[in-house]
Amino acid sequence: MTAMAFDYSEPQSIAEGIALAGRFGPAASFIAGGTDLVIQMRRKSRQPSHVISLQALDELKQIERDGDIVTLGALLTHKQLEDYFAAEPAMLGLIESARVIGGHQVRNAGTIGGNICNASPAADLLPQLLTLGAEVELAGPAGRRWLKLSDFLLGPGRTARAQDELLTRVRFAMPGKGGATAFIKAGRRRAMEISLISVAVRIAGAGASDCGQVAIAIGAAAPVAFRASEAEALLHGQPRDAALLKRAGEVAAAQATPLSDVRASADYRRRLIAALVPRAVMACLERLAP
Ligand SMILES: Cc1cc2nc3c(=O)[nH]c(=O)nc-3n(C[C@H](O)[C@H](O)[C@H](O)COP(=O)(O)OP(=O)(O)OC[C@H]3O[C@@H](n4cnc5c(N)ncnc54)[C@H](O)[C@@H]3O)c2cc1C
Repeated sequence: MTAMAFDYSEPQSIAEGIALAGRFGPAASFIAGGTDLVIQMRRKSRQPSHVISLQALDELKQIERDGDIVTLGALLTHKQLEDYFAAEPAMLGLIESARVIGGHQVRNAGTIGGNICNASPAADLLPQLLTLGAEVELAGPAGRRWLKLSDFLLGPGRTARAQDELLTRVRFAMPGKGGATAFIKAGRRRAMEISLISVAVRIAGAGASDCGQVAIAIGAAAPVAFRASEAEALLHGQPRDAALLKRAGEVAAAQATPLSDVRASADYRRRLIAALVPRAVMACLERLAP
């Protein structure tokens, strides 16, 4: 294997990072944990001549809390997410998403910002973040802007981020009373596996026997992870009923546009969605505090 040749910078401020990205243009790439980028460089699908490390930017490692609103620095690792939300029963779904990413080494290095910016259709954090209505903050030469995650994700590997913009923070409201989250990933193996399909659910405002407001997002079933809006509308405020949950699974499967590839056919992926949506909604309902 030939060695990869590139210049490496470690900016000490966000402004310096943005300026370096602007100066080197498309030949530059930010690197956070490197668990996606380094593999892409080895495969030669990406060959940046300037790699700009974010590791010295402590602002990107902070967690802010204002009531139920939590704002996460982009450089937090999957392991740090698992640890932080361990004290929040309503956030079990996000822990479940983080916990299935690669193995321990990947979870100790890979970051939330990298998972979002890499924009894989199968990225495991994205469905749960979509159910939470997450927003992302971008910092660029013109200042900072907040965007809905659903508007940020444009296609496989494509986002609304300009080349000289940094993803700095991610924020969302945690489900309050009568709320819970759940995540199920289907793969061919139990670990170190890209999702064949993933399903995330967030429930808010549920009463003793109704479904409340249900948010459902599906990964690996379309060019970008998406909210299964028709299934959500079907369940909204309805009584908890097995036949209705089954119907929601079918409706979500019909909204998906999965590909057939070496790992699974489109038909099999649709069947997975139909089976996993009711299971994930049920798991989420069972987690609601009495
Ligand atoms: C063995 C292995 C198993 C894996 N398994 C899974 C899995 O099961 N599920 C899953 O979802 N992923 C998996 N991954 C992929 C990867 O670990 C995650 O997507 C991880 O979150 C990427 O984060 P990172 O910090 O390593 O990103 P990097 O590789 O550093 O960056 C990824 C991309 O995002 C850009 N970027 C990173 N941070 C920022 C930022 N703050 N602002 C702007 N641009 C930024 C980089 O320029 C690059 O284009 C796996 C990877 C490996 C190597």
